[in-house]
Amino acid sequence: MTRKKVHDKEFEIYIPNAEIQRVISEMAKKLNEDLANKDVIFLGILNGAFMFASDLFREITLDSQISFLKLASYAGTSSTGTVKRLIGINEDIFNKTVVILEDIVDTGVTLDNIIKQLKGYEPAEILVATMLFKPDAYTKDLVLDYVGLEIPNDFVLGYGLDYEGYGRNLADLYRVIES
Ligand code: 5GP
Repeated sequence: MTRKKVHDKEFEIYIPNAEIQRVISEMAKKLNEDLANKDVIFLGILNGAFMFASDLFREITLDSQISFLKLASYAGTSSTGTVKRLIGINEDIFNKTVVILEDIVDTGVTLDNIIKQLKGYEPAEILVATMLFKPDAYTKDLVLDYVGLEIPNDFVLGYGLDYEGYGRNLADLYRVIES
């Protein structure tokens, strides 16, 4: 099945899972080489990065940790809805090499927010590994250390990414068909 309908939108297959796995293997190989002998903790950003984090971490041979974080809106009426609080940091990341695992970097606003908050915990360094990157939408100067695939500015679905909560379970990556 190369087409999927989720709510009101129609999607077509874009990047098959086999290609995603090939890209992840390459990224894992680089991480295993680059981060040898470092005290590494991978931090997957929920919800979208759960599938990428799982597939990537399976191929990591470093003695390392993994944990998952989530951005939550501040409670209360003064929330602007734009600044989100990072929740779920239980492991001590002080002095460690942190590798943020993101499903997709679009404008970079989310990543910028995450990095700012993580810096407060004083890790040794913060690296970024993202499965997908939309360079045309990017508005930040932050270096993306590991990028799986650069994609155009289309809305994508599957491989952990949702449309209004659905479609995360699709193994392949789909893109919206503009009607
Ligand atoms: P940014 O803050 O970089 O603009 O956006 C990051 C977040 O926007 C991602 O974590 C993801 O939740 C969402 N996002 C951006 N582009 C897409 C897309 O093409 N498909 C889906 N499903 N989510 C996206």
